[in-house]
Amino acid sequence: MAACPRCGSTVDEQDRYCPYCGYRLTLEKHEIVGRRDPMIAAILNFFILGAGHLYIGDVILGALLLVAWMFGVTNLIAIFS
Ligand SMILES: [Zn+2]
Repeated sequence: MAACPRCGSTVDEQDRYCPYCGYRLTLEKHEIVGRRDPMIAAILNFFILGAGHLYIGDVILGALLLVAWMFGVTNLIAIFS
């Protein structure tokens, strides 16, 4: 058993939220997957928008940003060509 860090109540380790005070006990899925270097994610996003999000496991946002980025790039090419 674990204790809620906010209210101190005994909580089940499987609980996502403290049933007494609602404190979030577990990390979201992307936060668990995202135990990677945020600097690398930032660098990836700098070169290819969305790549950093894909790297940290935020696939949906990463894919959306990547598509937006590709559209942006093709638009820029269209403007300057
Ligand atoms: Zn609590």
